[in-house]
Amino acid sequence: MDSFDPAKIVVRGGHFIGGEYVDEGAVRIDVARPSDGVVYASVPVADAAMIDRAVENAWTAFRTSGWARMAPRERARILRRFADLVAADVETLAPLEAIGSTRPVRDAAAWDVPYTAEGIRFYAEFADKLGGEVMSTDHDHLGLTIAEPYGVIGAIAPWNFPLVMASWKIAPALAAGNAVVLKPSEMTPFSVLRLAELAIEAGVPRGIFNVVQGDGRTTGDALVRHPRIGKVTFTGSTRTGAAIMAACAETGTKPVTLELGGKSPQLVFADAPRLDDVARRIAGAIAGNAGQVCNAGSRLLVERSIADDLALRIQRVFAELKPGATWASGTTLPPIISEPQAARIEAIVGRTVASGAQLRFGGERADGGTPGAFYTPTILSNVTQHSEAVREEVFGPVLTLQTFDTEEEALELAQHPEYGLAAGVHTADLGRALRLVRGIEAGNVWVNRYGRTSDFMIPTGGYKRSGIGKDLGRQAYEANLRFKSVLIDLRP
Ligand code: NAD
Repeated sequence: MDSFDPAKIVVRGGHFIGGEYVDEGAVRIDVARPSDGVVYASVPVADAAMIDRAVENAWTAFRTSGWARMAPRERARILRRFADLVAADVETLAPLEAIGSTRPVRDAAAWDVPYTAEGIRFYAEFADKLGGEVMSTDHDHLGLTIAEPYGVIGAIAPWNFPLVMASWKIAPALAAGNAVVLKPSEMTPFSVLRLAELAIEAGVPRGIFNVVQGDGRTTGDALVRHPRIGKVTFTGSTRTGAAIMAACAETGTKPVTLELGGKSPQLVFADAPRLDDVARRIAGAIAGNAGQVCNAGSRLLVERSIADDLALRIQRVFAELKPGATWASGTTLPPIISEPQAARIEAIVGRTVASGAQLRFGGERADGGTPGAFYTPTILSNVTQHSEAVREEVFGPVLTLQTFDTEEEALELAQHPEYGLAAGVHTADLGRALRLVRGIEAGNVWVNRYGRTSDFMIPTGGYKRSGIGKDLGRQAYEANLRFKSVLIDLRP
C-alpha cells in the first residue's frame, strides 16, 4: 500500500472500556493530521471519574473473566489469534496509523503493522514459559517462587510510533495475565482503539484491554495515581517519566518501567568498511520518521581524516529524500508531528548556529506539498559538548558532527551527561568495537549497524536518564509479573 485518500478515512473515537466505546467527557481535544494540520476528529478527556470507571472495570475483569487463571496455553492461543487479526487488518490499520501520525502509509503497511502483530505473537509464546522456580533448601522444606500478574497495568504511550510503542506495553502485560488500561498520546489516539477491538474479536475477555483518551496532566496523571494500578509502564520524554515516577512513589510505591529520551552517538572510525553504506545508515538513523525516534543517532562522531568525505556522502542521501504527506505515494521524509514541535526544532538549530556552529546542510523548512510542517535533514558542525543541539534531544532530523583523533577521545565525546539510550560503533577493528561496547554508557549498542532487527528477544531500554527497565525480551515479560516466595515446612 503506497497511498490513500485521507478524506475517505473514518475514525471511531472515545474511550474503550469493558469492550465498549464510551464517547463521554465534558472536555474534548481536537486531533489534527500532522501531514496538513487539518483537524479530523476529537477525543474526550478522561477525568478522574472516568479513569476510576476504566480501572475498576479492568480490575473486575481481571478477577472474574478467567484471563489470569486460564491455562496459559489457552491465553497464548487467544493472543496468537489477536496477532493474526492485527496482521490481516493491515488495509485498515495502516491508513489509520498514517493519517494521524508521521508514519508514511507504505512504512506503516510494510513495517509498523506486521511488527506490531509479530510482537504480540512473540509474547503469546511466553505465556506458559515462566511459572516460577523451586529453590534449593534443606530437606525438610520446599521453597519456591510463583510468578503472578500484578492485576491492572497502567500503560502510557507516545505519539511517534503509536501502534508499535503501545504493543510493546500491552503484549507482555496481557501474556502475563494482567488487565491493561492504555492511554495513547492525545495526538495519536485512534489506531490503538482498533487494536482493542481486534483483541476482543480474538477472544480477549471484555475489560482486559481498555483504552482511555486524554492529555497527560489530567488523564495520564489520574491513571498512574489510581490506587488499583499495580504497575506503570511508560514511554515518552524524560521529564514526564520523572513526574510519573514521583506520582507512583506518592500513591503506593508502584513499580515503573520508563522508556525515555535519548541523544545517541554514532562513532565512525576511518577503517569502517563501505563508507557509502555507513553514510546511508547514519542518514537513515537521523532522518527516519524525520528524526522523531527515541534512539535517533543524532550525534555523529567521526575520525577527522574521513569527516568531510562522510559528511558529503550523508548529504547526498539526505538530498534524495522526498518530503510529503503520510498518504502520498513515494514519501520518504514525513512531517514533523506539529507546528510547535517544528518551531522548537527551528529554534534549537537557530540558537546553535548563533553560538558558532556551522550549518553544513539543511536548516530550513521543506515543502511537502501540503500545509504540514516539514523540516529538511540538517547537519551542524563546529559544535562542542555544550552546544544546545548536541546537549538537547531535538526530536527532529538534526545531526551534529564532531571529530576525534583517538579512540579515547571518541569515547569521551560519546558519553552524554544525562542520556544513555543507544549508540552505534562503525569500525573494522573487533577489539576496538568491543572496548567501546564496554565503555559506552548506553542501554543499546549496535556495531556496524544501527537500530533493531526483528529479534524480539533482545531487550531495549536506557541507562541514566534514558529510563528504567526494559521493553522487549524476556525482561519485559518478567516485568509484568511479581514473584511470590513460598516456603513449606514438610516435617510430619
Ligand atoms: P511526552 O512525555 O510528552 O508524552 C508521552 C505520553 O505521556 C503521552 O501519552 C502524554 O499524554 C503522557 N503524559 C504527559 N504528561 C503526563 C503526566 N504528567 N502524567 C502521565 N502521563 C503524562 O512524550 P512524547 O512527546 O509523546 O514522545 C516523545 C518522547 O518520547 C521523546 O523524548 C522520545 O525520546 C521518547 N520516546 C522514548 C522511547 C524509548 O523507547 N526510550 C520510544 C519512543 C519515544
